[in-house]
Amino acid sequence: MDEISLSAGTAAKAAAGLTDGFGRAITYLRLSVTDRCNLRCSYCMRTDVKFLPKADILTLEEMERLGAAFIRFGVRKIRLTGGEPLVRPGVMLLVERLGARVASGELDELTLTTNGTLLAKYATGLASAGIGRVNVSLDTLDDEVFRRLTRRDGIADVLNGIEAARSAGLAVRINAVAMAGVNEAEYDRLIRWCGEQGCDLALIELMPFGERTEGLYLPLDPVRERLATRWTLTPAKHKSGGPCRYWRIAETGRLIGFITPMSHGFCSSCNRVRITCTGKLVPCMARQGDYDLRAALRSPEGDQALEAAIFAAVGCKPEGHQFNEGYKPQQGQPMWRMGG
Ligand code: SAM
Ligand code: SF4
Repeated sequence: MDEISLSAGTAAKAAAGLTDGFGRAITYLRLSVTDRCNLRCSYCMRTDVKFLPKADILTLEEMERLGAAFIRFGVRKIRLTGGEPLVRPGVMLLVERLGARVASGELDELTLTTNGTLLAKYATGLASAGIGRVNVSLDTLDDEVFRRLTRRDGIADVLNGIEAARSAGLAVRINAVAMAGVNEAEYDRLIRWCGEQGCDLALIELMPFGERTEGLYLPLDPVRERLATRWTLTPAKHKSGGPCRYWRIAETGRLIGFITPMSHGFCSSCNRVRITCTGKLVPCMARQGDYDLRAALRSPEGDQALEAAIFAAVGCKPEGHQFNEGYKPQQGQPMWRMGG
């Protein structure tokens, strides 16, 4: 694809990088490539979900153009997400094109968050396209709990996918959403299993999206304290470019991370924006407000309109989230469109 030609004004801004109104540099883009998914996790997607008409969804070329623009403006890391990114037909084309930007040094990292069900098919291709690590969402190792949570079968595919990813040389972090009374008793087993597989683990605080989250929220500080009585945990310096705080587990040699959007704010160091598969820029997942980039992408004014739209949207990034101020996720984009 052609390089984006910058207008003089935007070229000056681009040299300074994308910075929001609170002085935070935006260096991390989460790009949702589809709203479709082959699972129906109860904390994410309703069973009666209505998917968007295909015409509303950005083409892969438009996504590449967006990615290229953000890279030009200083983004160093892109995460592809969804819905389930691997159900998007032709997604490997986007992976390969953005992966080439890692090879050329324009991007530090291209990565992917997936439910793992299709990883066995794509793991080798992902690794050769320049992806070094993937996050695989797996909340439980129990067949029945998996079926209840995701409202689908498929745990065997996920486990095969993880094995294939490890064999292809991909580093894997397992993401498990912590839920009181659902998978609360499984963290020791997950830690042990991750150690055997050579995977890191991240526990994530449940956010009030989806249809069945009431009463399931589990703050992670007490969980970490409990785990520290059974495992030798040492704070680790490791950073993955996001809000995860890591500890090294001496017994397995692997990392355990805790992502705590509900109990600890990390807004002051937020470096990310999200783009939905329809081209809406979501500056903060827990605030109302998104900014359309699709009209600019499809505008006859071309790149100038896109550049202006990106800077305007990033300039509207709010100072902090509103989870603790009665924010109702129904007012904003659903999780499966924002990509987590
Ligand atoms: N389908 C892919 C997957 O499941 O990994 C990518 C999209 S999914 C929306 C991205 C991440 O968001 C997953 O790790 C998922 O567990 C997390 N997520 C979804 N709903 C959530 C919620 N209500 N609270 C916390 N995390 C959530
Ligand atoms: Fe699909 Fe991921 Fe949402 Fe589960 S969390 S329904 S796998 S998009």
